[in-house]
Amino acid sequence: MKKTFIIFLFISYSLCQEPAPIKSGIAPFKNEYSGKFDVINYDLEIGLSEKSEQIAGIANITIILNKNIKQIPLDFTGLSIQSVLINNSIAKYSYEKGKIFIDSKNFKANQMLTVRIEYNGKPDDGLIIGKNVHGNPSVFADNWPNRARFWFPSKDHPSDKATVSFTIHAPSKWKVIANGALIEKPKVSAENAIGLKESRLTWRWKSSVPIPTYNMVIGAAEMDITTLGVANFAYSPSSLRSDGSIEVSNWTFPEDTEKSQLSFERSVEMVNFFTTKIGPYPYEKLANVQSSTRFGGMENASAIFYSQEAIAKGRNIESTVSHEIAHQWFGDSVTEKEWHHLWLSEGFATYFGALFFEQSDGRDNFIERMEKSKNRIFQSKVTDRPIVDYEVRDLFKLLNSNNYPKGAWVLHMLRGLLGDEIFFRGISKYYNRYNNRTALTKDFMKIMEEVSGKNLQYFFDQWIFSPGYPIIEFEQTWIPKINGNGKMIITINQTQKKKWPTFIFESELCWDDNKCIPVKIDQKTQWFEITSSVKPDSIYIDPKNWILVDIQN
Ligand SMILES: [Zn+2]
Repeated sequence: MKKTFIIFLFISYSLCQEPAPIKSGIAPFKNEYSGKFDVINYDLEIGLSEKSEQIAGIANITIILNKNIKQIPLDFTGLSIQSVLINNSIAKYSYEKGKIFIDSKNFKANQMLTVRIEYNGKPDDGLIIGKNVHGNPSVFADNWPNRARFWFPSKDHPSDKATVSFTIHAPSKWKVIANGALIEKPKVSAENAIGLKESRLTWRWKSSVPIPTYNMVIGAAEMDITTLGVANFAYSPSSLRSDGSIEVSNWTFPEDTEKSQLSFERSVEMVNFFTTKIGPYPYEKLANVQSSTRFGGMENASAIFYSQEAIAKGRNIESTVSHEIAHQWFGDSVTEKEWHHLWLSEGFATYFGALFFEQSDGRDNFIERMEKSKNRIFQSKVTDRPIVDYEVRDLFKLLNSNNYPKGAWVLHMLRGLLGDEIFFRGISKYYNRYNNRTALTKDFMKIMEEVSGKNLQYFFDQWIFSPGYPIIEFEQTWIPKINGNGKMIITINQTQKKKWPTFIFESELCWDDNKCIPVKIDQKTQWFEITSSVKPDSIYIDPKNWILVDIQN
């Protein structure tokens, strides 16, 4: 009797054992995601429960092989695998150190195949299961940067975007949100639906537009759904409405619905504004979701997740909302092909997030935001590193002042250099060329060179691929004249550290009340001469706040 008992324990332990998870946020090694195969679609079925933190999952992943490869490596960690099939036949695989290697020797380049993986367990990360801020059960995905692999097998890298559909069996009093469109009304789950048997509804969502894995999310909890309105000027090619308009809704815990209104009320206006400035809204709908993301906001395509605490405390997070909505175009639709080009996502969202306030709350409000950004850059610990910094191996460390405020300032300076008409034409062209795809900094530079006819290599070299910013000191010598005007000789010194470049920028040199001459700064030390009837009281540059420059006197 005792012996049997011990054997039984051993068997049940080995069946339930989940492998130890790998660490999240580690930058991939060179060529880890080399394009030997592409994922076309993820079809994910997940069983959730109110009584257990265990999930049951089935992933049907459509893959195209670009080369003959012996194995298909997929990212997956911390959960147990029950079976792996390719095109409905049992496949050999190994599963270790955060990868499933699936035998693909029998398949040839250009072949499309479907990998089906059945799995279960308690996710260690990525899908956050537990009590929400009010003590009620909730499930929210939080994938950035590479934590999708903690709850579904994936090629978990932004270079490979894919469409995704979700079939979620969730406790019947929960609402379930995900990317894309709700493709049918939630219905009572089938008897044999995966996961624990309890009173459940099955929700089906589908994103027909390819999105990066760090954007693929579900959220499930007791929530209020409030329709905020319709963005009439979204012109979304993915909209299910014939006029391309999209519905904007809020998904909040019932306790916080009222408090959240302040933060979300201008969301429709924001969608319309960004569409006008950039191009058509890329997705089927937009949902603002209160969630258990670790970030203030996470821009998941068409289902933005916000910090539950911020909303529960009744804080106005409108600046975050504007930033995350701007991400739908930049980050989600035009995605950085490599993590180290994150400024294409965060710098753009920071700048466009602020641009909304420029047009709706005025130039002063916008300049105040840009000044705050400037101070964050000056005080940051990463000023000795370039924005695109391949040395960073912990991807969470990319969430720094270089990728956010400095990236935003790069765009602001480019706008100042090219003028509004050319700058926004370039932005639209870049979006129209790369939407639903991926891009690198050089792709953006090329478009801006095309529209402006200017060589911008020096601009991107100094601001994106070099550290620092100009620090300027003036010296002045006044030469009075007996009759007529006197002369002021102004020396401009760039006094920044030696390891930062000598910056090149165009600006205005001004004295007293807005008397200015255009100047091009391109040397460590330069002299300029101005004439004036009286000795100027004040000397300054950049009167209209276009340059990221630290002026010392
Ligand atoms: Zn962001």
